[in-house]
Amino acid sequence: MIDLKSTIRDVVDFPQKGIVFKDITTLLKDREAFKEAAELLAEPFREERVDGVVGIESRGFILGGLLAYLLNTGFVPVRKLGKLPAETLKEEYALEYGTNTVEIHKDAVSPGQRILVVDDLLATGGTAAAAVKLVQRLGGEVMGLAFLIELDFLSGRNLLRDLPIHVLIHYS
Ligand code: AMP
Repeated sequence: MIDLKSTIRDVVDFPQKGIVFKDITTLLKDREAFKEAAELLAEPFREERVDGVVGIESRGFILGGLLAYLLNTGFVPVRKLGKLPAETLKEEYALEYGTNTVEIHKDAVSPGQRILVVDDLLATGGTAAAAVKLVQRLGGEVMGLAFLIELDFLSGRNLLRDLPIHVLIHYS
């Protein structure tokens, strides 16, 4: 077993003063760590019916594509405003200062589909909660969420109540 935590780099004061950015590029470039992270993230969902993986831009795409492959299903991107070309649903959520908007293609999820939502990191939970709402508005059922990292002290999982959450690395 690889110590995945030791492959993640802290970058202090990025993108702004006071933030400790969890840089996963050092994990991604490590052949063994990348493979192990993908397999461990997929693990609890292997015996379940997964009809699609939703990955959140942009680091959620890297992990989400792998998870979709490992779980033998398709991949759906949730992107920042203005990036998806066809008809979309939008969901706005609050940031510390201001708001952000994410989008999904209207035909990306069908009613009744069981969807796994993936991102690299759970912080305040706003981004993941917005992705969950988009899936649910399309009639999909969010059967779980998977994150490489959770910043426990930000209590993001409070916004994702009642949903199964799978995390590999915690910071408390
Ligand atoms: P949040 O909506 O607060 O849960 O933020 C989650 C999103 O912001 C994820 O897509 C993360 O990649 C990114 N993010 C938030 N905080 C950090 C951090 N300290 N280090 C790296 N990425 C972060």
